[in-house]
Amino acid sequence: MSNRQLLVSKIGNGIVIDHIPAGKSFLVLKLLKQPSDAETLIAQNVVSRSLGKKDLIKIEGTYLTSSEIDMIAFVAPNSTLNVIQDWEVKEKRVIKLPEKIKGVFKCPNLLCQTNKEFAAPETNFRVESGERIEETKLHCEYCGSITWYGAILESIQSEHFKIEGGGLVSEEKIEQVFLEALIKGGALRFPPSADQPFMLKSGRASPYFINLGALTDGESLAKVKWAFASYIALLMERGDIPDFDYVFGPSYKGIGLATLTCEGLNELYGMDKRYMYDRKEEKNYGDLSTDRVLVGASYFKPGQRILVVDDTIT
Ligand SMILES: [Zn+2]
Repeated sequence: MSNRQLLVSKIGNGIVIDHIPAGKSFLVLKLLKQPSDAETLIAQNVVSRSLGKKDLIKIEGTYLTSSEIDMIAFVAPNSTLNVIQDWEVKEKRVIKLPEKIKGVFKCPNLLCQTNKEFAAPETNFRVESGERIEETKLHCEYCGSITWYGAILESIQSEHFKIEGGGLVSEEKIEQVFLEALIKGGALRFPPSADQPFMLKSGRASPYFINLGALTDGESLAKVKWAFASYIALLMERGDIPDFDYVFGPSYKGIGLATLTCEGLNELYGMDKRYMYDRKEEKNYGDLSTDRVLVGASYFKPGQRILVVDDTIT
């Protein structure tokens, strides 16, 4: 096996960012919002035929969001992103500058409406690229102001720089964390013997039973929040589920899940979704104009999409 194959392929599931200009790997890593315990390998100044020297980053058990990939292009254009699944390269692409970049950079014009103190729209720039990365410019779609590359890089390197949205985590990693939480918290139960399976409400027999109600400690709830938000973000990025407006949690156990999911999506992925749940008994006190049966529904508009989360996992 050649040195190159060794560097790229020895990973089960995850990503390899190759052909990073030498010395840029730490800046690239700063742009990725990966979990702090992600297994990461950084190789610097590796000899490369095309670049002379290059850097390389491997991260196990993770994938990148499109906004993370766009950002890499601003510091390490023409790097190669390899997506690895089951020890094989499933996707390989050269990272190019996006045509537009939204919500990441600030407009330099203080009078631009994106700099208003209240209800400012998300920034939106057209990206002008040149022969060399230093020729890159941003054009504000609202006021036409131009941001030169020096200012772009300065912004990326600043301490407060943060891109919205987190790194996507692989399905295997989500399963692992979720299972650990279920087992540690006593939420996953097996019958006393294999020939006496659990009988479910639906009448079916099951060799295991999951009771999320058993997870009552903060650590377990934090893991459930992380797992639900990470899984939903992964499904959305893959196009397996469409975007949605609401998270609905059927009472009673779905309520906690819906609130945790909304909070997790916001904290980890910068998404702003509302939650909603049903009352088992109609409200007959206080303000009866709202929330009588569905709590949170007063913001609902026809045509909006709802994602349902529930604790029934069998
Ligand atoms: Zn502007």
